[in-house]
Amino acid sequence: MGNKDKSQSVIKRKDLQALFDSLIKKGYSTYGPCVQDGAVVYDRIESVSELPIGWTDRQDNGNYRLTKTKEKRLFGFVVGPHTWKKYLYPSESKLWEAKRSGHEFEIVAEVNQPYKQAFIGVRPCELQALAIQDKAFLEGEFTDVSYLQRRQNVFIVAVNCVQPGGTCFCSSMKTGPKASGGFDLALTEVVEPNKHYFVVEAGSSAGVKILKEIPGKAAGEKEVLAAKKALRKASSKMGRRLDTDGLEKLLFKHIDHPHWNEISSRCLTCGNCTMVCPTCFCGNIEDVTDLTGQTAERRRKWDTCFSVDFSYIHGGSIRSGETARYRQWMMHKLAYWPEQFGTFGCVGCGRCITWCPVGIDITEEAGVFKREG
Ligand code: SF4
Ligand code: SF4
Repeated sequence: MGNKDKSQSVIKRKDLQALFDSLIKKGYSTYGPCVQDGAVVYDRIESVSELPIGWTDRQDNGNYRLTKTKEKRLFGFVVGPHTWKKYLYPSESKLWEAKRSGHEFEIVAEVNQPYKQAFIGVRPCELQALAIQDKAFLEGEFTDVSYLQRRQNVFIVAVNCVQPGGTCFCSSMKTGPKASGGFDLALTEVVEPNKHYFVVEAGSSAGVKILKEIPGKAAGEKEVLAAKKALRKASSKMGRRLDTDGLEKLLFKHIDHPHWNEISSRCLTCGNCTMVCPTCFCGNIEDVTDLTGQTAERRRKWDTCFSVDFSYIHGGSIRSGETARYRQWMMHKLAYWPEQFGTFGCVGCGRCITWCPVGIDITEEAGVFKREG
């Protein structure tokens, strides 16, 4: 990304379809939020009418409900159980295939054809989560080729959060509610009596190009102020807070604290929190053969540090107890990741709180160690 255009434009709500049309014309498959099975999820959509218009979400520990609002906002909700990682790091994928030919076999690598994907409605915390996954898959000693093949052709339309959810804490993690980078276009939705528009910022040359194809005008002072005010309000209405000051050191200090046992007595080790987390990237490798023995496949699947098998090595699991597994997950997010990379492995999206069946809240649990000092 580059060529960030600091000037802002205004697109009227009725003209937003032109953004979809322009991306589709350029060969992008467009993905965005839509309502399915009582939740806002991410799927293939090609028109504004498929967005969750007028829907909002109520979220709390282990609780998620969609409700209709009088305002016909296009993005009046926050994040649901899906994350964008499913398009870059699918929950299950083939890495390569082996084919028998006589007494030999041939390896056929899996090549993902260049595929242009446009993500519409990426939240600021999710941009940071993508940056974390980029670090894990692209910036280490080895590059994950299948991730790279998908990642390099993505166009990102971010949508700043003007209505934070009940379990969000992006302000504490400094990952929102406004996008600071990593997007091609960033939209802020403004709804006023008789007015509904988006204040738009371009974050790349591709974004500048697309913006030129959409009916709009340069943003005036009033419109820029309205967007800023909405974002300020969102920041002050955040549902949760995590005091991160010195947290990494405190967690290391309390690694044997009895509170870990207390949390694990509630935790079902179901792994829901890792499946919905936009930053979790752990996977498992499986080899599968067909019944005739002619072909074999090596497949990768999402895995979770909450399963006993996850830490199995030669004869036993390193983390056989629930306490060790919960502690590993939280320490990885809030202590090991900062130690290794200098940033938290959590972006404050709140999904793990909402989708935990017993309502365990990472902000509350970390707060216990914080109060211990
Ligand atoms: S913290 Fe909640 S979601 Fe995560 S494994 Fe435990 S019970 Fe499941
Ligand atoms: S740990 Fe929880 S709040 Fe943090 S990024 Fe993952 S799902 Fe979101």
